[in-house]
Amino acid sequence: MQNTNLAYDSKVEGEIIVTQADAVINWIRKHSVWPMPMGLACCAIELMAAGGSRFDISRFGMEVMRFSPRQADCMIVAGTVTYKMAEVVRRIYEQMAEPKWVVAMGACASTGGMYRSYATMQGVDRIIPVDVYVSGCPPRPEALLDAMIKLQDKIGRESSLKNLTARKRQPAKQAALAGAVNES
Ligand code: SF4
Repeated sequence: MQNTNLAYDSKVEGEIIVTQADAVINWIRKHSVWPMPMGLACCAIELMAAGGSRFDISRFGMEVMRFSPRQADCMIVAGTVTYKMAEVVRRIYEQMAEPKWVVAMGACASTGGMYRSYATMQGVDRIIPVDVYVSGCPPRPEALLDAMIKLQDKIGRESSLKNLTARKRQPAKQAALAGAVNES
């Protein structure tokens, strides 16, 4: 049985709904994502547009943008990640509480984009784990909304407890990621 299943039969059970803990926890999590807007370049303008009335990210319960990592659970990396900024991005990511997710918005955040230069990190996934990538330069706000819906689907399929422990079991990978910053 998938962890999103609900069972409800009003004739037999009256007001009782039967489900799984994972289904409830993931349902709450995926409809209350609080993004941390990591705006680093032009993609951030598209991210701002997604919060405006035309695109209205609040339709998905995600309008509570938080500029404190301790109040956010989804970092949206929007823009070019330079080596100068990489350490800051990683530190802010580490200050976010588990469970947390990352969206790489745009070609620059996903791969370095057109900047094949000594100053630009070739994808933010070299220092933090990315859950969803958004293509485009710049991606339109609809593309970000599509990515957030995909993230909701992903959160819905996760084991809620496994999510809390999985990343703590990766010290070797974390050390490797730290090395990517230090080598720059
Ligand atoms: S992907 Fe394009 S729009 Fe986005 S930050 Fe890079 S250059 Fe700017």
